[in-house]
Amino acid sequence: MTTKRGRAAAARVTAVGWCPDHAKRLYSSRKEARRAGRTYAPGGHPNAYPCDTRDGWHWGHLGAAVAAGAMSRMARYAEVTT
Ligand SMILES: [Zn+2]
Repeated sequence: MTTKRGRAAAARVTAVGWCPDHAKRLYSSRKEARRAGRTYAPGGHPNAYPCDTRDGWHWGHLGAAVAAGAMSRMARYAEVTT
């Protein structure tokens, strides 16, 4: 599923880098990652989790931490957040 929502608001949360391993933005802290998640998915339940290959944090919908090993699913999320 692809959506353009949140693109303008994204500027309010500063990503510190890019994680090519997961094709997701990196945030400096759990707090920043959660803030980004709320920006992209208002009303949702963003879940911040540390990247396992880079120095930073990602966010995903509830359950993403459980699916942390499911790279294909995380890549699918990335399509929404890019
Ligand atoms: Zn990562």
